[in-house]
Amino acid sequence: MSNNIENKVVLITGASSGIGQSTAELLAKKGAKIVLAARRESRLKELADKINKAGGQAIYQVTDVTNPEDSKKLVQYAKEKFGKVDAIFLNAGIMPSSPLSALHVEEWESMVDINLKGVLNGLAAVLPEFTAQKSGHVITTSSVAGLKAYPNGGVYGATKWAVRELMEVLRMESAQEGTNIRTATIYPAAINTELLNTITDTEAAKGMAALYEQYGISPEAIARIVAFALEQPADVNVSEFTVGPTSQP
Ligand code: NDP
Repeated sequence: MSNNIENKVVLITGASSGIGQSTAELLAKKGAKIVLAARRESRLKELADKINKAGGQAIYQVTDVTNPEDSKKLVQYAKEKFGKVDAIFLNAGIMPSSPLSALHVEEWESMVDINLKGVLNGLAAVLPEFTAQKSGHVITTSSVAGLKAYPNGGVYGATKWAVRELMEVLRMESAQEGTNIRTATIYPAAINTELLNTITDTEAAKGMAALYEQYGISPEAIARIVAFALEQPADVNVSEFTVGPTSQP
């Protein structure tokens, strides 16, 4: 019996590390055809090689999600190589946390460009395909910071709240339009990845490092949720998941 993942073509942004990498490995084991996307080519190549050597199927395309053309090329490449696109995991993101008063304005802009516009670029690239084929699955990584406000997380949280809004509207509009497009938004808490490397504010970095050291769990926790969403039959949409360490208050 099919697990509803086997042979699905799944595009993953932010696949060069952390949650994206872990998800790619798990979905490949379950038989999906994976298209890895991020900026660091060496990481993507290494991961594709690892998956293919283990008997899975993965290809990669260097992609900067802030560039709408890159996102379009990613979808085209997937279609060219695997013939279709079934799902996209819009997961690329950065988290240079800091207090608003520190005015890290360039970092604010990068977060809006990557975490929010990057998702919009992915949607603009994939929705024409999903609408035409009357099926498709969009999964995003928001954050618990997209559900609740945290000091130092003002701009990061704002981008993640925006993702939540977009996904809920996409779910409602797809239902109204009868396009059968499914959506799942994941709100992770502390997951051990390279995300903290994007923090430049010394105090914010110290606080986050302590929090992750105390509570952080493996990104496989999120990979399993992505798999769970994909495993559902086509008439079932599981739209939201909050996932974090059992020990994290
Ligand atoms: P990582 O830093 O390990 O991964 C981030 C990924 O995003 C990398 O693959 C990076 O690849 C990619 N990326 C960054 N900028 C761009 C860009 N411009 N274009 C394409 N890819 C880009 O962190 P995580 O795995 O933790 O992060 C994944 C998502 O999970 C993010 O959206 C993050 O906000 C979210 N999240 C994470 C939590 C955690 O505790 N770890 C908690 C809540 C949410 P490259 O640099 O090669 O481009």
